[in-house]
Amino acid sequence: MTHDVAVSKAREISSGVLAPSAGQNDKAGRFSTEAIKSLGDAGLLGLMLPADVGGLALGPRTFANVVATLAEADASVAMVYLMHSLGATAISAARPSAAQAVTPILRDIGAGRHLSTLAFSEAGSRSHFWAPLSRAHQNGAGVRISAKKSWVTSAGHAHSYVVSSLSPQGAGPTDSTLYLLLANTSGLSVAGPWDGLGLRANASAPVVLDDCEVQPDLQLTDDGAGFPAMLNLVMPLFNLGSASVALGLCRASVAGTASHLKSAKFEHLGQSLGESLPTLRAQLASMQIETDGLSARIDDLVDHLEKPRETTMLRVLESKAAAGDVAISVSSTAMRVCGGAAFSKHLNIERLFRDAHAGAVMAPTGDVLREFIGKSLLGIPLF
Ligand SMILES: Cc1cc2nc3c(=O)[nH]c(=O)nc-3n(C[C@H](O)[C@H](O)[C@H](O)COP(=O)(O)OP(=O)(O)OC[C@H]3O[C@@H](n4cnc5c(N)ncnc54)[C@H](O)[C@@H]3O)c2cc1C
Repeated sequence: MTHDVAVSKAREISSGVLAPSAGQNDKAGRFSTEAIKSLGDAGLLGLMLPADVGGLALGPRTFANVVATLAEADASVAMVYLMHSLGATAISAARPSAAQAVTPILRDIGAGRHLSTLAFSEAGSRSHFWAPLSRAHQNGAGVRISAKKSWVTSAGHAHSYVVSSLSPQGAGPTDSTLYLLLANTSGLSVAGPWDGLGLRANASAPVVLDDCEVQPDLQLTDDGAGFPAMLNLVMPLFNLGSASVALGLCRASVAGTASHLKSAKFEHLGQSLGESLPTLRAQLASMQIETDGLSARIDDLVDHLEKPRETTMLRVLESKAAAGDVAISVSSTAMRVCGGAAFSKHLNIERLFRDAHAGAVMAPTGDVLREFIGKSLLGIPLF
């Protein structure tokens, strides 16, 4: 499948499956299993997996476009897709001794039958996902893990969870390892409801691991190699995907606002809002400028990921920090421009506004990214 075909399939799913039910799912906090089925049937769950396991072997450029396209219709589904794609990437990069056990799982992902996700954040270390408090304990050749994972997108719906935990012999706070836990692992349970302000339809509930047994062939990284995998493998794609969710939300905000300005009328003046008020036109223009600026930033990040160079990690950090702010700014302007109609939930703008606030608090948070950027500019160690 080519880039263009993958993006056009995402567009079809967005308009045919996501858009008609996004509002209802948001209201009910309902996870869209039909969205995941459509993405699986279209082959998009294996977008970045190699062809030998049935993947499409496409890269970050297509991934970013697909995520933004989904987010325009439903950011909850886009975030589920993003977390799944990262889970699939981590599974696909498993160390050689795990290859036999993970290959059937990767084939299931390629065939659209398996949804994965990441379970990194812990209640104790909060947004500092690079420092899990849980520790894997040696259990014969495998390990046992107990952990309180504080937010896990697709909790209760994913077929597997990529879990971080300190290594049995790890000496420091970042000496972690990544493991793959299947959803039916004894001791793994969803520990509460998800009732967020935004992204309400993505089931980001807490998950508890209670003495879960993990066989050695489901240990994805070597002991202590979880930290570099989270930073160098997962974070660049997460930041790209998170920025793409923000872009989709911005585009939807611009489109929703333009549509309102064209259709809502000052009947006593015989004009639409957009015809009547230059101030609304100017604010709409600012939203468009910010949105296109974010799009250019994402293109630049994709280029840096495709052709890695010295500035790549800086771009990775900057893009998510900037995108979170742009999404909040653009959707806030949309709320103001669309006035009481948006405030009273007559339009989808308020959902976009609520969803836009998730990006900045998802780890690495906008504040933490600024800390990293500032420290790296000054030559101060990040950890
Ligand atoms: C919708 C949603 C989905 C999520 N999905 C997942 C998932 O699938 N998997 C997963 O592992 N996690 C997930 N998370 C968790 C997320 O990544 C963060 O860990 C979580 O949002 C952190 O919230 P907190 O209140 O614990 O943050 P805190 O750490 O308490 O942060 C509070 C404030 O302090 C700031 N802060 C913290 N540290 C610093 C610092 N060093 N410098 C400057 N400021 C700092 C933060 O920016 C924030 O403003 C999800 C969260 C949300 C909201």
